[in-house]
Amino acid sequence: LLPILLHQFIYRKVTPTSLPSFLLIGPSGGGKTAFLTLTERKAVAQTHTSTAPLAVEVLLPEDHTPQSSHYRSLGDPAYERSRRFQLNDTPGHGKLRQFATNQLANPTNVRGIIFIVDAASVAEEAGLNESAEYLHDVLLALQKRYTGATTSKGPKEIPVLIAANKLDLFTALPPHLVAQQLEKAISDVRKSRAKGLKDSGPALDGEDDSLDEEREWLGEGGEGSFEFAQMEEVGITVTVQGGNVIGGDGADVKSWYEWIAAQL
Ligand code: GDP
Repeated sequence: LLPILLHQFIYRKVTPTSLPSFLLIGPSGGGKTAFLTLTERKAVAQTHTSTAPLAVEVLLPEDHTPQSSHYRSLGDPAYERSRRFQLNDTPGHGKLRQFATNQLANPTNVRGIIFIVDAASVAEEAGLNESAEYLHDVLLALQKRYTGATTSKGPKEIPVLIAANKLDLFTALPPHLVAQQLEKAISDVRKSRAKGLKDSGPALDGEDDSLDEEREWLGEGGEGSFEFAQMEEVGITVTVQGGNVIGGDGADVKSWYEWIAAQL
């Protein structure tokens, strides 16, 4: 117990929110805590199941250059500043997802969302469905934020990285298949959600049911299948990159850091 308490004590530090930040989201067991720990310590420690959100301030590893600093020289203090960012871990358990969705409703300084998914678990139906439902809800929250914006410019875009983790496992799907499987499963999620809305009883007099259905429909209308590219319409760029935080010949999360660098 003591090591766990100690771990929580060390990581539960409150950091200023003025830094650009990234939300770590995804089903429990995907590797969020492991990635956060790796980024903070450059070494991976045993993780515990996260039950409360925690934020840590980290530095972009030196072999990556923040997008905003491509023309800055190494000694420039602005260059050093631009490498700082905050990672916000969110618990993946069903009931605790509220934390994550709340943060999406009013994100301040959020430069992007990193949805970490276990690429081996999405090879199986249960894991795939859980991930697809969660991702569907995250994307729908972002879509609503965009369509509900009151300014004519629309809110600042929030890109999404789907980090296909655990590629060291031989049962893991390659990233392009993770993407395909998720798109297919999200198509099913949005169909069943729409049906749920229709079935939830007749509309009250004068209330427009179809409006509600439209708001709750992720991506383009119609019966076709869902594709991540449809999110571009509402200012959301979805990228899929594979990696592994633990195992293999050591951690390989370069493509995730590259994506983070592009948002800084
Ligand atoms: P979280 O619930 O999303 O925070 O997931 P954790 O970070 O607690 O990781 C869940 C489990 O997966 C832990 O036992 C990790 O050691 C393990 N894990 C995380 N990343 C990898 C990886 O890249 N490869 C393998 N094989 N295991 C991993």
